[in-house]
Amino acid sequence: MEDEYCESHLRKRLKFFDQMCDQLVCRDCLLTDHQGHKATKVDNVVPKAKDRISRIKHNVELEIKTNDSKRTEAKSDLANYDLSVQIVREELDKIHQELAECIEELTNETVRELKRLAAQAREKQQNFIRELEKNMRGLYKRERSHVRLWNPCLSISGFELRK
Ligand SMILES: [Zn+2]
Ligand SMILES: [Zn+2]
Repeated sequence: MEDEYCESHLRKRLKFFDQMCDQLVCRDCLLTDHQGHKATKVDNVVPKAKDRISRIKHNVELEIKTNDSKRTEAKSDLANYDLSVQIVREELDKIHQELAECIEELTNETVRELKRLAAQAREKQQNFIRELEKNMRGLYKRERSHVRLWNPCLSISGFELRK
C-alpha cells in the first residue's frame, strides 16, 4: 500500500486515508482537491482496518459455529424424534401382541368351558337315559313276572294276559 503512488501528483505516495471521501490520497491531494478533509495516516489506518477485519472474521466464525451447533442440535432433535417414534411404535406393537395373546387365551378358555359344560350336559343326559332304561327294564321284568305268575290262574278262567 505504501508503494502506491498518486495518479494526480507525480511521485507522491498515497500515505493518507481521506475519511470523508473514503479513499487514499497523497499529501498534495490534502493541500488541493481534498483540502480541509479529515484524513488519517495510512500507517494508523491499517492496524485499525486489520483489527476491524479480524473482528468481522471472528464474528463470522462465531456465527458459523453457532449455526453449526444449531444444526447439530436440530439433527439431534430429529434423531430424538425418530427415536421416540420408534419407542412408541414398539410399545404399541407390544400392547397389540399382548392384547392378541389375551384374546386368544380368553377364547381358548371359553371354548374349554363350553366343551366342559357340553360334556357335563351329555353325561347327565346319558345317565338320565340309562336310568330310564333301567327303570323300564325293571318295570318290564316285573310285568313279565306278573304275567308268569297270573297266566296259569287266568288261563283256567279262560283269560290270558300276555305270552
Ligand atoms: Zn495526490
Ligand atoms: Zn477528500
